[in-house]
Formats: sequence, structure tokens, C-alpha cells
Amino acid sequence: MTNNNMIFVANWKMNGNFSDISKAKILNKLIKQRKFKRNKVVYCPPYTLIKSFSDNFKKTNISVGAQNCHHQSEYGAKTGSINCKLIKSSGAKYVIIGHSENRIDGETDNLLNKKIQSAIKENLNIIFCIGETLNQKKKKQTSKILKNQLFNGLRNIKNFKNISIAYEPVWAIGTGIVPKKSELERNMKLIKTYLKKLKRNNSIKVLYGGSVKPDNASELSKIKEIEGFLIGGASLNAKKFVDIIKKSSI
Ligand code: PEP
Repeated sequence: MTNNNMIFVANWKMNGNFSDISKAKILNKLIKQRKFKRNKVVYCPPYTLIKSFSDNFKKTNISVGAQNCHHQSEYGAKTGSINCKLIKSSGAKYVIIGHSENRIDGETDNLLNKKIQSAIKENLNIIFCIGETLNQKKKKQTSKILKNQLFNGLRNIKNFKNISIAYEPVWAIGTGIVPKKSELERNMKLIKTYLKKLKRNNSIKVLYGGSVKPDNASELSKIKEIEGFLIGGASLNAKKFVDIIKKSSI
């Protein structure tokens, strides 16, 4: 695989308002260029902006996603919650599931498994996040944690067609710290081995997330196991996001 068919997922977290759509439009110009055409860009703004983003990017190569979902497939009495049916009806094609900021708030592997099942029902593309905390890394538990998160989160899933994995070491998110190349290569390979053990084919993309910036994108994208980036902070700035895509594309 070359680096010009990577997937770049922008996670805006709890940021952004209607006027910020113009920031995202800059991206559209870039990825129309031949050199970048095979890359995929997915914007995951807050729920409140999904519909406007989807309308604005209808005839472009930019897709829109949600940052989370409720696990219940059907509509129902769940005040304040948004399920995959609602996400899909607002025009999104992707959903991030298992982000560490939500795992920290109490999302368990079991709950995430239900969320994945409900996203599959709606035919949404899933970015399933996994990653160890600093404490777990220090205790040399990374491999066990990654395995458990994958095996439990993906339990009983038969249809892997729309699933990508985002490896996001929790200690790298929003800290400006990225794992050493050797560590990243090792953990990305581990994830691929576990995915094979789950008897799935190799077409599941594995992304990296955690302090991806214009100044480290080129180096990170040379790691052949990395097939895309999940980008938080830097994706809020259109110029930085554009630079990350440019620097990752050879
Ligand atoms: C994230 O929130 O998934 C993330 C990777 O954030 P950042 O790029 O800011 O580290």
C-alpha cells in the first residue's frame, strides 16, 4: 500500500459551530487534486453539526461521522441520547466507537460491543478505538489490553466489512507525545496479529491516533502498518489538517 490511500479522520470532540464548516471546505479543494484523490477524509463534528456537514459535503469525497452513539438500535425513551438510526438519518456514514475519553467515563467492552452491533445494523462505517493507558504501559500490559479490547469489543461480530481499528495510546492523546517508532510498529503489528486470530481477513484498516501534527505526520506515515490517522486537536485547524494530509502523501 502506498501512502496516498490513507484515511484521515477528524475528531472535533466538543468543539465547533456552524461557521466552522468553512474550515472543512478547504479540505475539499485539496482532496480533489489527483495526488490526494485516493485518500479518504472523514469529519466527525459534534452531533449538532452532522446534518449541515453532510449537506455541505454531499457531492465531495469528504464523509461525515459521529463521535459516539447510544447502543440501542431502536428509537426509544433515552433522554439526551443519539442512536445509529438518528446518526444515519442526519447523513453521517461513519461513527467513532470506544474513544478513550468515553471509556474513561465508564464505557465497557461489553457496551462497546453492543454499539458496534447497532452501527453494523445501520450499515455505518465504524472506527473502533483501542489503546492502553500510561499505567498499563508501565506495567507492560499493553499487549494484553489491546487483545482484550479487540476480542471483547468485537465478540460475535461476523461482518467486518465496515470496521476500522484506531490504535490510540491514551497517554498520546492531546499530550504532544507520540510513541517511539519501534513501539508503534510493534503494537500495530500486534493488533494485526490479533485481527488475524479473530479469523478475519486482512482488509481491516488500522489507524493511529494520538498527537498527530504536521511536524510528525511524514515520519508516522512512513510506518507501513499505519493506514490512516485519527486526529483530534490538529484537525480543528484547517491549515494543520491540510498539512498533515500533504505530509503523509508521497
Ligand atoms: C483523539 O482525540 O482521538 C486524538 C487523537 O486527539 P489528539 O490528536 O489531539 O491527540
